[in-house]
Amino acid sequence: MIPYGKQSISGDDIQAVIEVLQSEYLTQGDTVEKFEQAICQRVDAKNAVAVNSATSALHLACLALDLTKGDWLWTSPISFVASSNCALYCQAQVDFVDIDPITYNLSVSALEEKLEQAKENNRLPKIIIAVHLSGLPCDMQAIHQLSNQYGFKIIEDAAHALGASYQENPTGCGQYSDITVFSFHPVKIITTGEGGMAVTNNKTLADKMRLLRSHGITRDPAQMTQQPDGDWYYQQLDLGFNYRMNDIQAALGLSQLSKLNSFIKARQAIAKQYFKALTNLPLLLPFESTESQSAYHLFIIQLTTPVNDQHKKIFNYLRQNGIGVNIHYIPIHTQPYYQKLGFKNGDYPVAENYYKKSLSIPIYPSLTDDEQRFTIATIQQAVLS
Ligand SMILES: *Cc1c(COP(=O)(O)O)cnc(C)c1O
Repeated sequence: MIPYGKQSISGDDIQAVIEVLQSEYLTQGDTVEKFEQAICQRVDAKNAVAVNSATSALHLACLALDLTKGDWLWTSPISFVASSNCALYCQAQVDFVDIDPITYNLSVSALEEKLEQAKENNRLPKIIIAVHLSGLPCDMQAIHQLSNQYGFKIIEDAAHALGASYQENPTGCGQYSDITVFSFHPVKIITTGEGGMAVTNNKTLADKMRLLRSHGITRDPAQMTQQPDGDWYYQQLDLGFNYRMNDIQAALGLSQLSKLNSFIKARQAIAKQYFKALTNLPLLLPFESTESQSAYHLFIIQLTTPVNDQHKKIFNYLRQNGIGVNIHYIPIHTQPYYQKLGFKNGDYPVAENYYKKSLSIPIYPSLTDDEQRFTIATIQQAVLS
């Protein structure tokens, strides 16, 4: 089976991990900080906090922005459930903004309308999470403008978008947001096995996330309420978690990061081939923006003539013929857990319609020409038969 995505691990990655394993520290050494600094440099951010997953990073980001009971967080229904679960971890309430039918990202016009209504009802969100689906950046300038008008904070869920750019700036630079979160799960752009990172230009937010990442404990005398009792001394200042990344993961991440540019180039080359080969089929291809560059974590195609169960038939045909297609995502609000919270089918019609027609086809740096040709031929057979 040719999967829709997979990691690229080479000898230098393995060597980097071996070196940490043979060193003194497997966790809480200096490799995590090196990885954080390297990410800062690459995405042009001032501070980075490495954690054990993007899910943890989203949780810490919400806590750092003081999301709490009675607050609202809005995000896109077409995302992984972690994008909205983070609000529920904070006892806040979730609402969704329907997607744009062309970019599949949160629709700015739907957002604008919803904000106007929310203002009248005194229910404005504290945080909006902009998810860069497939690696294509959201219209951040417009969302940022609305944040000035309505006073919400912005988290970018860039789990798909490490290496993407918007208005010539790397995703993560924070020009239009408070915190950006990356994932290093193996299917994502670079991997640490499991892992994530929150980046921000705001040192106060970074310090808070750093504290909460490790139990709410500090060893920095400047943060303590009294003089340290001695060199062993630490203080717990808040109720935090063990969300730490370890040095084994960070060493893999550093090695992977050194290849980010070539990974993105390879993904873009594969995308280019798909655009060329699939253009005359009854398919809607990904939106290509003039003001941003997608990281192409996913290559999502949509059927344009959906007849009843054609979507499922094509999915099954491709799977049966060795193409590991997938669907990103089942609209979050249709999940049983979210239905229990009061969401209903029909709440976000554009997202639900997208779900009935979309397919993620294989894209990852080590996908060979032969594999891509076979994928394209099989897609042609599937949609034309
Ligand atoms: C993968 C993913 C996450 C969660 O990442 P983990 O590192 O697996 O916790 C969050 N949001 C989106 C959009 C993702 O794709």
